Amino acid sequence: MITISGEAWQWLMVGLDAVMLYGLKRWYHGKVRSAEEIEAIQCYKISDDLRSVLQKQDDSKLPYACIEGIVMPTGLPLHSHFDSSEKGVIQHVQFVEHKSKRTNGYWSDVKNIIKDITRVCGFVVVDRDSTSSLQDAQVLVEVLEPLSAEFLMDSLPTTYDQYTPNSDTILSRGIDRIFGEVSKGYQETEKMLLVGDRVLGIGQLMLIGGKIMLEAPSDNSKHFILSTLTKKQIVNAMKSEARLLKYAMLISGLFGSVLLVYLLRKKIRQLIDNYRINRMYREIQQQRELRHRQGTNLAGSSEDDEDKANSENCIICLDNGREVVLLECGHVCLCVDCARALPEPRKCPICRGTITRYVPLFRP
Ligand SMILES: [Zn+2]
Ligand SMILES: [Zn+2]
Repeated sequence: MITISGEAWQWLMVGLDAVMLYGLKRWYHGKVRSAEEIEAIQCYKISDDLRSVLQKQDDSKLPYACIEGIVMPTGLPLHSHFDSSEKGVIQHVQFVEHKSKRTNGYWSDVKNIIKDITRVCGFVVVDRDSTSSLQDAQVLVEVLEPLSAEFLMDSLPTTYDQYTPNSDTILSRGIDRIFGEVSKGYQETEKMLLVGDRVLGIGQLMLIGGKIMLEAPSDNSKHFILSTLTKKQIVNAMKSEARLLKYAMLISGLFGSVLLVYLLRKKIRQLIDNYRINRMYREIQQQRELRHRQGTNLAGSSEDDEDKANSENCIICLDNGREVVLLECGHVCLCVDCARALPEPRKCPICRGTITRYVPLFRP
């Protein structure tokens, strides 16, 4: 099995953070660009002028344009489930159970969507100055695949919103609590794009067989929007999303750089430590050679000397002499070879204190 050390994890985190930062940055720039594009987009009144503008285009298309008008059904409109006098063209009904759920000993509110239905009927957008009947409207814009548009569902006016709390007995609630899930009540909401509502449409406009149609732009990076919000509100919403992304970028950038600085400092300290210990190793090696030469000159040593030497041998290899002082604890227990071979982070084998520095031990 491959085990990953703590430090490797930290480097991995720096890498992941950098990837996340890059993603956030692209997302942020995309949002800013979209907000600017929509701010600068050309708006057309739904009129004969728009038709002639489209006719003048090469392929009778405006790749990215904005229209504003009121909604009219082409056939029978949808009726509200709760108020039959309300008529619309898009209807979104949701039935949600609100619950308290216990996870890991903590209670939290959860939503359980029981029913979520969206219906749409054929509709067109006409100029707001047109009279209320469809026959009178000279120019109209048909919206293709309206449900794929952004800013639509969240901006739909609410036509019904009712919360019914549960009227369970205390006993059944108590039993539910034991099982870790308490149903609190049900919420039923209905949102509708009503006949006569003002909508904003942003996308590709095209003229086909005398009909003007609005559809998703062929450039995927551009937004297809159908909403009851105004252009300014949509631009502001995008700008505030961009601001949030900027904060996320800041936090991720700060986290990554703090971790990176920490890891680099640690790495540099390790390099300095290694440099020091290697220099010391060379110095002591020279001393050893010197002693060796002197030793052979003296031609053998007495047994007393050997016993004394044994008690002063490195506690790890039991062979070399004790050659370094470990700081800050001050223990003298290792030869330079074993000191160099200690695993990172280096710890004193006697007291387990962290070794901040080695000092060569010089005997007179
Ligand atoms: Zn040793
Ligand atoms: Zn020690």
